[in-house]
Amino acid sequence: MHELSIVASVLDQLEEIRKQQPAGARFTKVGLRVGELAGLDVDCLRFGYECSVKDTPWETMALEIEEVPRRQRCPKCANEFRAANWATQCPQCGETETELIAGEELQIAFVEVDE
Ligand SMILES: [Zn+2]
Repeated sequence: MHELSIVASVLDQLEEIRKQQPAGARFTKVGLRVGELAGLDVDCLRFGYECSVKDTPWETMALEIEEVPRRQRCPKCANEFRAANWATQCPQCGETETELIAGEELQIAFVEVDE
């Protein structure tokens, strides 16, 4: 399952963040930004997360997922728009060659730490 390796890499990054925190700091929540083009199933991601943190020090940390919709920018009129159903044509001027500006992200958005 692809999502499990994603979770593993997120936990690796959290481990690095944890090293910079005072001893005894407890992570209570992690927020992930997941673009709709990242190719991840959010339910699988949640399930993979639960399996991965079970019986580990991360077990008490909640997961919050922010889904980021696909957005495009038009080079002609600078319009930014939500590209629903893979329609990437600019709704304002009709330009077909628009540029992807959001929707591919997969990153840690925030971490909440209880000191
Ligand atoms: Zn346009």
